[in-house]
Amino acid sequence: MSILAWIEDQRKLKLLNAPKYNHPASDGSQGLWTRCDNCGVILYIKHLKENQRVCFGCGYHLQMNSQERIENIIDLGTWRSLDETLSPCDPLEFKDQKNYTERLKEAQERTGLQDAVQTGTGLLDGIPVAVGIMDFNFMGGSMGSVVGEKITRLIEYATQEGLTLILICASGGARMQEGIFSLMQMAKISASLQVYQSSANLLYISILTSPTTGGVTASFAMLGDLIIAEPKALIGFAGRRVIEQTLQEQLPDDFQTAEYLLHHGLLDLIVPRSFLKQALSETITLYKDAPFKKLGFIPFGIQKNISFMTEEKLRRKWKEWSQNLFKNEEFEILKFSNDNEKIIDSELLYREILLSFKNIFNIFSESFLKTLDSDLFNKAIFLANQEKIEWRAFYRDKKNNLKSDFLENLINQSFISDKLKYKIKN
Ligand SMILES: [Zn+2]
Repeated sequence: MSILAWIEDQRKLKLLNAPKYNHPASDGSQGLWTRCDNCGVILYIKHLKENQRVCFGCGYHLQMNSQERIENIIDLGTWRSLDETLSPCDPLEFKDQKNYTERLKEAQERTGLQDAVQTGTGLLDGIPVAVGIMDFNFMGGSMGSVVGEKITRLIEYATQEGLTLILICASGGARMQEGIFSLMQMAKISASLQVYQSSANLLYISILTSPTTGGVTASFAMLGDLIIAEPKALIGFAGRRVIEQTLQEQLPDDFQTAEYLLHHGLLDLIVPRSFLKQALSETITLYKDAPFKKLGFIPFGIQKNISFMTEEKLRRKWKEWSQNLFKNEEFEILKFSNDNEKIIDSELLYREILLSFKNIFNIFSESFLKTLDSDLFNKAIFLANQEKIEWRAFYRDKKNNLKSDFLENLINQSFISDKLKYKIKN
């Protein structure tokens, strides 16, 4: 028996005796050693992990689980996951060699995840982002109803909060065990992306890792404003053998690799894993500072609703502020009333007012601030800062007017004196 065969046997033995539950943070293969999928070199897993699972021999990018990805691109301690408890059911009572429910249970125990994607928010070099990461270890990263729902919710959340969206794809395609329920996720995700990209005008970066195939390629993976791939990643719709048999033709060797697709214009960039975080942060910073950017808006009907309690709290807060804020004679409020329909025609205006307080305080002169109740001022700043929003999208109200900054509303409304209007404008 060769030493390699012995190591392999030991690995299998260990795997059999290992406890069933492995958290994704621990290594799935359970052994000390693994083999490079590309060049076959034997690699020490501990060192491989430190090298972000890039082969020391040939630079091939081995598969990474979703937890490692989060650690790789999100600042330490800032990850906050969304919809962690969403769990799939078996609507078709599907059975092949095994029941679908059994397969699910097995995958859940092995990975510690509920389904093949992790979604959440976090900071990337200090920039707030919404991130979805598919996990190939969970049933081949296949997209079922839960994966689709989680990604859709993430996109909707990012739209409301004005966050940059990053989706890291690693998938075999739609999940066949859920039939049409998994296929409809493609349309659902694409529809929410349409609002995110075309209405709210926010940035979506899709990152394709090996392998990205099937329904995922046919929907959100290819919809990125920027499409980034990892070196030598396998990206395609149908498999190589299927295409060869259908066309009765020999395909080139590098067919469906990232390099081939970049050459043919399907991708924007190939970025090695070690530079990925830096590349993302530089891209987002560049985009944020770009001139001539079109303002986005969220169409009426899909804005986030404010709960009754929150609305009442904001209403009271605003009353308190509006009475104290303009107590100086110079800043007299003309005919201001909370019942004025012209001013308050949407519950969202309250939110707008709160968010805009930061801007107002930045612009008013220092002498004005001195006359202001400092306690109130601190409270306002605190509340404004609590809303961790970098680039908030504009929205349209019922009458299809574009609602923008409170400051702009303030200038256009008749309830402040001309003197103050002049002050704000200059
Ligand atoms: Zn290698």
